[in-house]
Amino acid sequence: MSLRTVGGHETAETIDDLKVWLRGLEGCPPVTRSVVATCDRPAHAGEPATWFYVEADPTAGVARLRCLACGNAHPVLDSEERWTFPGAWSCVNCNQSIAEVAFGVHDHNGRASWLVMAVRCVECGHLHGATDLVVDNVPTDDLLAQL
Ligand SMILES: [Zn+2]
Ligand SMILES: [Zn+2]
Repeated sequence: MSLRTVGGHETAETIDDLKVWLRGLEGCPPVTRSVVATCDRPAHAGEPATWFYVEADPTAGVARLRCLACGNAHPVLDSEERWTFPGAWSCVNCNQSIAEVAFGVHDHNGRASWLVMAVRCVECGHLHGATDLVVDNVPTDDLLAQL
């Protein structure tokens, strides 16, 4: 693990470090599973894309990812139904707006009750907790399959 602090901001060198960071979050339900967001559209020919533009509203608990490579929009779970038109994320540290994204899930006996989404700036590695959603004790594997 290679988390560093640069100018008061936590940064991570890789997306795997972001997954580790999610598992260490405090003041929230413990994250027991984490996955990296990918775009698996046929356009990527079997090499899922991992760079996204991100829109997220932490107050409403909604988020949407737009694949940098193919432009496809991925609403997170039912975000589309409750959409609040949040502005696009950009890095507070370096100002660019392309991110890698990971989800953390609080899982108990195979059922998920909470989801958190975090982003890593692909330029400088800055980490940001984008939003979180309460989910209704759905089977964790089903939830992960929808992300
Ligand atoms: Zn794509
Ligand atoms: Zn940055």
